[in-house]
Amino acid sequence: MFDRILIANRGEIACRVIDTAKARGVSTVAVYSDADRTARHVAMADLAVHIGGAAPADSYLNGDRVIAAALETGAQAIHPGYGFLSENPEFVEAVEAAGLVFIGPSAGAIRAMGLKDAAKALMQDAGVPVVPGYHGDTQDPDHLSGAADGIGYPVLIKAVAGGGGKGMRRVDDAADFADQLAAAQREAQSAFGNPAVLIEKYIEQPRHIEVQVFGDGTDAIHLYERDCSLQRRHQKVIEEAPAPGMTAEMRAAMGDAAVRAAKAIGYAGAGTVEFIVDGANGLRPDGFWFMEMNTRLQVEHPVTEAVTGLDLVAWQLRVAAGEPLPMHQQDVPLTGHAFEARLYAEDVPAGFLPATGTLSHLSFPATARIDSGVRAGDAISPFYDPMIAKVVTHGPTRAVALKKLAAALDATEVVGCVTNLSFLGALARHAGFTRGEVDTGLIARDLDALTAVPPPSPARLAQAALAATDTDTNTDALTGFTLWAPLWRTITLEIDGQEITARVARTGPDTAEIEVAGTTVTARNVAGWTFDGTPAAASHTEGGTVTLFGPDGVSARVLDPLDRAAADASGSDIIEAPMPGMLARMLVAAGDSVSAGQKLAVLEAMKMEHALTAPRDAVVAEVLVPEGTQIEAHAPLIRFAGDDA
Ligand code: ADP
Repeated sequence: MFDRILIANRGEIACRVIDTAKARGVSTVAVYSDADRTARHVAMADLAVHIGGAAPADSYLNGDRVIAAALETGAQAIHPGYGFLSENPEFVEAVEAAGLVFIGPSAGAIRAMGLKDAAKALMQDAGVPVVPGYHGDTQDPDHLSGAADGIGYPVLIKAVAGGGGKGMRRVDDAADFADQLAAAQREAQSAFGNPAVLIEKYIEQPRHIEVQVFGDGTDAIHLYERDCSLQRRHQKVIEEAPAPGMTAEMRAAMGDAAVRAAKAIGYAGAGTVEFIVDGANGLRPDGFWFMEMNTRLQVEHPVTEAVTGLDLVAWQLRVAAGEPLPMHQQDVPLTGHAFEARLYAEDVPAGFLPATGTLSHLSFPATARIDSGVRAGDAISPFYDPMIAKVVTHGPTRAVALKKLAAALDATEVVGCVTNLSFLGALARHAGFTRGEVDTGLIARDLDALTAVPPPSPARLAQAALAATDTDTNTDALTGFTLWAPLWRTITLEIDGQEITARVARTGPDTAEIEVAGTTVTARNVAGWTFDGTPAAASHTEGGTVTLFGPDGVSARVLDPLDRAAADASGSDIIEAPMPGMLARMLVAAGDSVSAGQKLAVLEAMKMEHALTAPRDAVVAEVLVPEGTQIEAHAPLIRFAGDDA
């Protein structure tokens, strides 16, 4: 076994590899970019080497720099993780030329699977079923359209160098073929520098089922299948093992085919053989076809680890160190069912746009396996994949594992950036998915329902309003009441861009009434607060924002009454003090141009400082009160030049 390895990656996969290395007494070297100086994987590793700028091309894709870091630190082997340099045969050759071990397959095996057409031809020769179609060299449009006629529409045009769904076009009608072909070729040329395409039968209700294989260069076995059919635009969202509806017969046939594929290229290490399955006819041993092989550890490997109880990274290290496969095929366990959901910083309503932010609060339940590269306080930067964590659950049955997934997502708390958490939760509760009806079109068909944001319930609004009474500035009002005589307070919350006003009265030490959304909610604290009987959601309050977690969670910004007073005065030229206090600072002078939202002055009231902001763009005509003055409510502080000034 190695004494020291370098991990040529970042984020959750670097942390994942370091975990196993540590458990096996192998010392670890992290590499990091400018953006990752304080990243979790750097903190976890025994040594860390800075390899360049934040852009991947300047650091994690710079093979020479990575190899130099390994040599400098005395690492004997390099684990590539996934993405970045993991499927780059030239990198493998350079690692080996430097006298180091690449923890993965040979450069030859990666090359053999690098292009879809050559891989399909190779697999066909090895007796692996491939999607019916044309994957020859002739790229003449007439020849290709003739091939499409022969296959029968609908067909799929695919870039042979493709990845990530680029250069892929579905064609339903022969009349559209020429245009779609030209478009696919253009896209392939610009994305991969290779315009060559292949033509495939389009499978109408496809399921994506992949087989985890493991080789030691001589022998190969499989560790069963994963179903990754839950996709959005060809990107996996939730993965599971085993595949719903899988029969022993089909599993044996798929496993056999995958092992044949691995053996055909003398595969060493962890790999995945991806098949497409026709979901319209149920799972049948003659109804699956090879799509491609990923010659690396996959993002979704934890579901295989959950159902087999094996550590795939440990296997990778052992095989790379020259040991034979640790297990015989017939001894590989398969227990229960597992799910993995990919939690991303992304703006779902905005079309799943990647988001950035600083995770001011991050908490996961202990009931799930969490693979994450970030901690509370870490940033999701614009430079890399915005994954926050993989949430993995395991149970004796699919139903139990899925319930555990939904519960784990409900109990996951993220503050500081938008996430796809509620989308994942909706998927985990989707009726069809719950029944095991999975195909790659499910998400697109039900996208509206899966991304709908229901209005917050009165109970949740009441909780947010009550929490806001502890955060806003008028805390003196709370200490002022006598004998719990109700004292109504008005709280304004901004939720999803909408202002919601609530009135809150503390009616006793453990009771309150909240008027909101046209109803009155009674809050009681008996071993925890309830709102009209609904238990309070877990919550986090920070920086004037109350976040309630869970499936019906709410993020509410508490609007400062002072800001609002200024806003109410937006039509006027006079900026008044919204409450009595002391003018701590005056930040503008006569003649200054100010823009809407700019801080004008700081008022000290109720032992707190409050900023007064400009309600609109304006020019300051006159400052009416000097700093340090005690002022009454509504005292005029600043006069703006009128429109006619
Ligand atoms: P890429 O390498 O660009 O990701 P793949 O060949 O892996 O492309 O296919 C990506 C996805 O496209 C699959 O998971 C599946 O959803 C869909 N797909 C691929 N081939 C077919 C086909 N012949 N018929 C229907 N859908 C397909």
